[in-house]
Amino acid sequence: MSSQITIALSKGRILKDTLPLLKAAGIELAEDPAKSRKLIIPTTHADVNLLIVRASDVPTYVEYGAADVGVAGKDVLLEHGSTELYEPLDLQIAQCKLMTAGKTGYEEPATGRVKVATKFVNVAKRYYASQGRQADIIKLYGSMELAPLVGLADIIIDVVDTGNTLRANGLEPRDLITDISSRLVVNKASMKVKFEAINALIQQLSAAVDAQTN
Ligand code: AMP
Repeated sequence: MSSQITIALSKGRILKDTLPLLKAAGIELAEDPAKSRKLIIPTTHADVNLLIVRASDVPTYVEYGAADVGVAGKDVLLEHGSTELYEPLDLQIAQCKLMTAGKTGYEEPATGRVKVATKFVNVAKRYYASQGRQADIIKLYGSMELAPLVGLADIIIDVVDTGNTLRANGLEPRDLITDISSRLVVNKASMKVKFEAINALIQQLSAAVDAQTN
């Protein structure tokens, strides 16, 4: 690779699962982001830097070209809703489901307005519009499971992995909105200007994903 490439990642699940894929592409972190407070992490690859950003900010960094490439959950990408990003590769990591959930045994009325609490406001609006259902969407930033328990909402929309968090709070999953996994996203201008380097990275990551899933 001759061009400088900046990759935006979030700490936690995505970072943990992306590191082995980057390693297979010859990119290792020069510092441990869990121990470092640095937000720009150099790598063993002279032409590649990593930015540590909040998960929901990854599409923004990539869209504006502050990062050439990023890794973001499909949930975050759907909520961000940009058409300005290429999404060339499903990394098949951090898999979960975006679902509606409600109190265990709660009978949702078939008609009428439904009160929905979620941090995925745009996803929720599109989902209920597609169902032809009137919904009052209430934006929350976390602890969505609480909302049905205290009467703030009838239904929540959240990502569900094992379902343990729902069950621990007396909730149950209802409808599947979509399956989620993390995706590689690329800035459109970077894809043109740094085609060789980014294309090589996509090919190497793609091979690493295949090796991991087969
Ligand atoms: P669960 O295994 O269903 O109890 O998941 C616990 C919590 O972790 C969920 O409420 C989500 O907020 C979060 N979570 C699980 N899987 C993912 C994922 N792949 N991406 C982002 N958040 C997740």
